[in-house]
Amino acid sequence: MVPGVSRGAARAEKQGKSGTMTRAASRTWNEIKTPKRSAIPEGLWLRCPGCSRMIYRRQMEANLHVCPECNHHFRIGAVERIRQLTDPGSFQPMFRGLEPTDPLGFRDLKTYADRLRIEQEKTGQVDAVQAGSGFIKGREAMVCCLDLTFMMGSMGSVVGETITRTIETATERNLPLIIVSCSGGARMQESGLSLMQMAKTSAALARHDNAGGLFISVLTDPTTGGVTASFAMLGDVILAEPGALIGFAGPRVIQQTIRQELPDGFQRSEFLLKSGLVDRVVARAELRSEVARIIDYSGK
Ligand SMILES: [Zn+2]
Repeated sequence: MVPGVSRGAARAEKQGKSGTMTRAASRTWNEIKTPKRSAIPEGLWLRCPGCSRMIYRRQMEANLHVCPECNHHFRIGAVERIRQLTDPGSFQPMFRGLEPTDPLGFRDLKTYADRLRIEQEKTGQVDAVQAGSGFIKGREAMVCCLDLTFMMGSMGSVVGETITRTIETATERNLPLIIVSCSGGARMQESGLSLMQMAKTSAALARHDNAGGLFISVLTDPTTGGVTASFAMLGDVILAEPGALIGFAGPRVIQQTIRQELPDGFQRSEFLLKSGLVDRVVARAELRSEVARIIDYSGK
Protein backbone atom coordinates (compact mmCIF):
# COMPACT_ATOMS: atom_id res chain seq x y z
CA MET A 1 0.00 0.00 0.00
CA VAL A 2 1.22 3.49 -0.86
CA PRO A 3 2.20 5.52 2.20
CA GLY A 4 -0.36 8.17 3.02
CA VAL A 5 -3.24 6.37 1.32
CA SER A 6 -6.13 6.07 3.70
CA ARG A 7 -7.80 2.78 4.52
CA GLY A 8 -10.97 3.86 2.74
CA ALA A 9 -9.02 4.42 -0.45
CA ALA A 10 -7.39 1.03 -0.13
CA ARG A 11 -10.76 -0.59 0.30
CA ALA A 12 -12.20 1.19 -2.72
CA GLU A 13 -9.24 -0.01 -4.73
CA LYS A 14 -9.81 -3.54 -3.51
CA GLN A 15 -13.49 -3.53 -4.42
CA GLY A 16 -12.78 -1.94 -7.77
CA LYS A 17 -10.72 -3.07 -10.68
CA SER A 18 -8.11 -5.00 -8.72
CA GLY A 19 -9.27 -8.47 -9.63
CA THR A 20 -5.72 -9.77 -9.58
CA MET A 21 -4.90 -8.39 -6.17
CA THR A 22 -5.32 -11.01 -3.45
CA ARG A 23 -7.33 -10.13 -0.39
CA ALA A 24 -4.44 -10.64 1.96
CA ALA A 25 -2.16 -8.36 0.00
CA SER A 26 -4.66 -5.52 -0.07
CA ARG A 27 -5.16 -5.48 3.70
CA THR A 28 -2.91 -3.53 5.99
CA TRP A 29 -1.77 -4.45 9.49
CA ASN A 30 -4.16 -1.92 10.96
CA GLU A 31 -7.13 -3.52 9.26
CA ILE A 32 -6.11 -6.99 10.40
CA LYS A 33 -5.35 -6.03 13.97
CA THR A 34 -8.35 -3.85 14.76
CA PRO A 35 -11.50 -5.69 13.78
CA LYS A 36 -14.80 -3.89 14.29
CA ARG A 37 -16.04 -4.25 17.82
CA SER A 38 -19.40 -5.93 18.14
CA ALA A 39 -22.26 -4.26 19.94
CA ILE A 40 -22.30 -6.97 22.57
CA PRO A 41 -20.76 -5.79 25.85
CA GLU A 42 -17.26 -7.10 26.41
CA GLY A 43 -17.12 -10.01 28.78
CA LEU A 44 -20.75 -11.04 29.10
CA TRP A 45 -20.65 -13.27 26.02
CA LEU A 46 -17.67 -14.78 24.31
CA ARG A 47 -17.02 -16.64 21.10
CA CYS A 48 -15.98 -20.25 21.67
CA PRO A 49 -12.78 -21.09 19.79
CA GLY A 50 -14.04 -24.67 19.45
CA CYS A 51 -17.43 -24.17 17.79
CA SER A 52 -17.34 -20.40 17.01
CA ARG A 53 -20.72 -19.97 18.70
CA MET A 54 -21.44 -17.10 21.05
CA ILE A 55 -21.75 -18.53 24.53
CA TYR A 56 -22.79 -16.95 27.79
CA ARG A 57 -19.70 -16.53 29.94
CA ARG A 58 -21.44 -17.29 33.25
CA GLN A 59 -22.85 -20.53 31.87
CA MET A 60 -19.41 -21.54 30.57
CA GLU A 61 -17.81 -20.75 33.94
CA ALA A 62 -20.48 -22.67 35.85
CA ASN A 63 -19.70 -25.60 33.53
CA LEU A 64 -16.07 -25.73 34.85
CA HIS A 65 -14.95 -23.38 32.02
CA VAL A 66 -16.04 -25.87 29.37
CA CYS A 67 -18.16 -24.84 26.39
CA PRO A 68 -21.71 -26.18 26.94
CA GLU A 69 -22.19 -26.47 23.16
CA CYS A 70 -19.08 -28.32 21.95
CA ASN A 71 -17.18 -29.37 25.10
CA HIS A 72 -14.20 -27.12 24.29
CA HIS A 73 -12.04 -26.90 27.42
CA PHE A 74 -11.06 -23.30 28.08
CA ARG A 75 -7.70 -22.62 29.68
CA ILE A 76 -7.92 -21.90 33.40
CA GLY A 77 -5.47 -20.47 35.94
CA ALA A 78 -3.99 -22.35 38.87
CA VAL A 79 -6.34 -20.89 41.48
CA GLU A 80 -9.41 -21.99 39.51
CA ARG A 81 -7.82 -25.38 38.83
CA ILE A 82 -7.22 -25.99 42.53
CA ARG A 83 -10.76 -24.85 43.32
CA GLN A 84 -12.12 -27.38 40.82
CA LEU A 85 -9.83 -30.24 41.79
CA THR A 86 -9.78 -30.18 45.58
CA ASP A 87 -12.56 -30.54 48.12
CA PRO A 88 -13.95 -27.16 49.20
CA GLY A 89 -11.85 -25.50 51.91
CA SER A 90 -9.33 -28.36 52.05
CA PHE A 91 -6.43 -26.79 50.16
CA GLN A 92 -3.53 -25.52 52.27
CA PRO A 93 -1.07 -23.46 50.19
CA MET A 94 2.61 -24.21 50.83
CA PHE A 95 6.07 -22.97 49.78
CA ARG A 96 4.89 -19.40 49.36
CA GLY A 97 8.08 -17.65 50.46
CA LEU A 98 9.84 -18.19 47.11
CA GLU A 99 10.28 -15.15 44.90
CA PRO A 100 11.90 -14.93 41.46
CA THR A 101 15.10 -12.96 41.03
CA ASP A 102 17.04 -11.88 37.95
CA PRO A 103 20.57 -13.23 38.53
CA LEU A 104 21.50 -12.98 34.85
CA GLY A 105 20.33 -9.38 34.40
CA PHE A 106 18.38 -10.64 31.38
CA ARG A 107 16.94 -8.22 28.90
CA ASP A 108 14.82 -8.82 25.79
CA LEU A 109 12.28 -6.17 24.79
CA LYS A 110 11.94 -5.42 28.50
CA THR A 111 14.23 -6.34 31.35
CA TYR A 112 13.28 -9.57 33.12
CA ALA A 113 12.95 -7.62 36.37
CA ASP A 114 10.36 -5.31 34.75
CA ARG A 115 8.56 -8.24 33.16
CA LEU A 116 8.29 -9.97 36.54
CA ARG A 117 6.96 -6.83 38.21
CA ILE A 118 4.35 -6.31 35.49
CA GLU A 119 3.22 -9.95 35.62
CA GLN A 120 3.02 -9.87 39.42
CA GLU A 121 0.91 -6.72 39.34
CA LYS A 122 -1.33 -8.11 36.59
CA THR A 123 -1.96 -11.49 38.21
CA GLY A 124 -1.50 -10.75 41.92
CA GLN A 125 0.77 -13.82 42.04
CA VAL A 126 4.46 -14.18 42.75
CA ASP A 127 5.22 -16.70 39.99
CA ALA A 128 3.57 -19.23 37.68
CA VAL A 129 2.73 -21.95 40.20
CA GLN A 130 0.46 -22.82 43.13
CA ALA A 131 1.18 -25.75 45.39
CA GLY A 132 0.06 -27.26 48.65
CA SER A 133 -1.81 -30.11 50.27
CA GLY A 134 -5.48 -30.82 49.86
CA PHE A 135 -8.13 -33.47 49.68
CA ILE A 136 -9.58 -34.89 46.47
CA LYS A 137 -12.89 -36.62 47.17
CA GLY A 138 -11.61 -37.26 50.69
CA ARG A 139 -8.15 -38.55 49.67
CA GLU A 140 -5.28 -36.44 50.94
CA ALA A 141 -2.73 -35.47 48.29
CA MET A 142 0.02 -33.03 47.41
CA VAL A 143 -1.18 -30.84 44.56
CA CYS A 144 0.81 -28.54 42.31
CA CYS A 145 -0.67 -26.51 39.43
CA LEU A 146 1.18 -24.40 36.89
CA ASP A 147 -0.43 -21.11 35.93
CA LEU A 148 -0.65 -19.99 32.31
CA THR A 149 -1.72 -16.49 33.26
CA PHE A 150 1.80 -15.76 34.57
CA MET A 151 4.41 -15.64 31.77
CA MET A 152 2.71 -18.53 29.93
CA GLY A 153 3.28 -20.86 32.90
CA SER A 154 6.96 -20.96 32.06
CA MET A 155 9.26 -22.88 34.39
CA GLY A 156 11.91 -20.73 36.02
CA SER A 157 13.71 -21.32 39.32
CA VAL A 158 10.66 -20.61 41.50
CA VAL A 159 8.39 -22.95 39.55
CA GLY A 160 11.06 -25.68 39.53
CA GLU A 161 11.81 -25.31 43.23
CA THR A 162 8.11 -25.28 44.16
CA ILE A 163 7.48 -28.44 42.15
CA THR A 164 10.54 -30.10 43.71
CA ARG A 165 9.44 -29.23 47.25
CA THR A 166 5.94 -30.51 46.50
CA ILE A 167 7.39 -33.81 45.25
CA GLU A 168 9.72 -34.11 48.27
CA THR A 169 6.89 -33.41 50.70
CA ALA A 170 4.74 -36.03 48.97
CA THR A 171 7.61 -38.52 49.37
CA GLU A 172 8.17 -37.64 53.06
CA ARG A 173 4.50 -37.78 53.96
CA ASN A 174 3.78 -40.76 51.69
CA LEU A 175 1.01 -38.87 49.90
CA PRO A 176 -0.11 -39.18 46.28
CA LEU A 177 1.29 -36.40 44.09
CA ILE A 178 -0.77 -34.62 41.46
CA ILE A 179 0.82 -32.06 39.16
CA VAL A 180 -1.34 -30.20 36.65
CA SER A 181 0.78 -28.88 33.79
CA CYS A 182 0.09 -26.05 31.38
CA SER A 183 3.19 -24.29 30.21
CA GLY A 184 5.07 -22.77 27.32
CA GLY A 185 8.17 -24.58 28.63
CA ALA A 186 11.35 -23.44 30.31
CA ARG A 187 11.61 -19.70 31.06
CA MET A 188 14.10 -18.30 28.57
CA GLN A 189 14.77 -15.24 30.74
CA GLU A 190 16.43 -17.57 33.25
CA SER A 191 18.37 -19.39 30.56
CA GLY A 192 20.46 -22.25 32.00
CA LEU A 193 18.92 -21.82 35.44
CA SER A 194 15.50 -22.73 34.07
CA LEU A 195 16.93 -25.75 32.23
CA MET A 196 18.40 -27.02 35.52
CA GLN A 197 14.84 -27.26 36.86
CA MET A 198 14.20 -30.08 34.41
CA ALA A 199 16.92 -32.23 35.97
CA LYS A 200 16.01 -31.21 39.53
CA THR A 201 12.30 -32.06 39.23
CA SER A 202 13.08 -35.31 37.40
CA ALA A 203 15.57 -36.37 40.10
CA ALA A 204 13.03 -35.63 42.84
CA LEU A 205 10.47 -37.75 40.98
CA ALA A 206 12.96 -40.62 40.73
CA ARG A 207 13.38 -40.52 44.53
CA HIS A 208 9.59 -40.36 44.93
CA ASP A 209 9.28 -43.40 42.70
CA ASN A 210 12.01 -45.31 44.58
CA ALA A 211 10.13 -44.67 47.80
CA GLY A 212 7.03 -46.23 46.25
CA GLY A 213 5.21 -42.93 45.73
CA LEU A 214 2.37 -42.33 43.29
CA PHE A 215 2.54 -39.48 40.76
CA ILE A 216 -0.43 -38.59 38.59
CA SER A 217 0.51 -36.11 35.87
CA VAL A 218 -2.37 -34.11 34.40
CA LEU A 219 -1.60 -32.45 31.06
CA THR A 220 -3.72 -29.51 29.99
CA ASP A 221 -3.67 -27.12 27.06
CA PRO A 222 -0.85 -26.37 26.28
CA THR A 223 1.94 -28.50 27.78
CA THR A 224 5.11 -27.89 25.80
CA GLY A 225 8.88 -27.46 25.85
CA GLY A 226 10.94 -28.15 28.96
CA VAL A 227 7.89 -29.08 31.02
CA THR A 228 6.98 -31.88 28.61
CA ALA A 229 10.64 -32.85 28.47
CA SER A 230 10.83 -33.31 32.24
CA PHE A 231 8.33 -33.97 35.03
CA ALA A 232 5.10 -33.82 32.97
CA MET A 233 5.91 -37.04 31.10
CA LEU A 234 7.19 -38.90 34.17
CA GLY A 235 3.81 -39.68 35.70
CA ASP A 236 2.97 -43.19 36.86
CA VAL A 237 -0.32 -42.33 35.22
CA ILE A 238 -0.56 -39.55 32.64
CA LEU A 239 -3.99 -37.99 32.14
CA ALA A 240 -4.77 -35.32 29.56
CA GLU A 241 -7.69 -32.96 29.09
CA PRO A 242 -9.55 -33.30 25.77
CA GLY A 243 -8.03 -31.39 22.86
CA ALA A 244 -4.94 -30.24 24.76
CA LEU A 245 -1.82 -29.40 22.77
CA ILE A 246 0.99 -31.54 24.17
CA GLY A 247 4.44 -31.64 22.66
CA PHE A 248 8.02 -30.47 22.83
CA ALA A 249 8.38 -28.19 19.81
CA GLY A 250 5.22 -26.69 18.29
CA PRO A 251 3.59 -28.19 15.17
CA ARG A 252 4.67 -25.29 12.94
CA VAL A 253 8.34 -25.72 13.84
CA ILE A 254 8.13 -29.48 13.22
CA GLN A 255 6.37 -29.00 9.89
CA GLN A 256 9.02 -26.53 8.75
CA THR A 257 11.81 -28.85 9.88
CA ILE A 258 10.65 -32.14 8.38
CA ARG A 259 8.81 -30.51 5.43
CA GLN A 260 5.93 -32.94 5.59
CA GLU A 261 2.22 -32.55 6.18
CA LEU A 262 1.41 -33.39 9.78
CA PRO A 263 -1.48 -35.78 10.42
CA ASP A 264 -4.85 -34.48 11.66
CA GLY A 265 -4.96 -33.83 15.39
CA PHE A 266 -1.17 -33.98 15.64
CA GLN A 267 0.08 -33.33 19.21
CA ARG A 268 -3.45 -33.27 20.62
CA SER A 269 -4.45 -35.44 23.61
CA GLU A 270 -6.50 -37.91 21.56
CA PHE A 271 -3.65 -38.41 19.09
CA LEU A 272 -1.18 -39.00 21.93
CA LEU A 273 -3.56 -41.47 23.55
CA LYS A 274 -3.47 -43.55 20.36
CA SER A 275 0.33 -43.40 20.20
CA GLY A 276 0.64 -44.36 23.86
CA LEU A 277 2.10 -41.18 25.33
CA VAL A 278 -1.02 -40.50 27.35
CA ASP A 279 -2.85 -43.09 29.43
CA ARG A 280 -6.30 -41.55 29.41
CA VAL A 281 -8.10 -38.50 28.08
CA VAL A 282 -10.33 -37.22 30.87
CA ALA A 283 -12.99 -34.52 30.59
CA ARG A 284 -12.68 -31.81 33.21
CA ALA A 285 -15.95 -32.83 34.86
CA GLU A 286 -14.55 -36.34 35.41
CA LEU A 287 -11.08 -35.35 36.58
CA ARG A 288 -11.73 -35.44 40.35
CA SER A 289 -13.38 -38.87 40.18
CA GLU A 290 -10.65 -40.22 37.92
CA VAL A 291 -7.83 -39.01 40.20
CA ALA A 292 -9.59 -40.41 43.27
CA ARG A 293 -10.08 -43.74 41.49
CA ILE A 294 -6.39 -43.98 40.56
CA ILE A 295 -5.35 -43.17 44.15
CA ASP A 296 -7.61 -45.96 45.41
CA TYR A 297 -6.47 -48.36 42.72
CA SER A 298 -2.80 -47.82 43.61
CA GLY A 299 -3.53 -48.43 47.29
CA LYS A 300 -2.31 -45.00 48.42
ZN1 LIG B 1 -17.88 -24.41 21.80
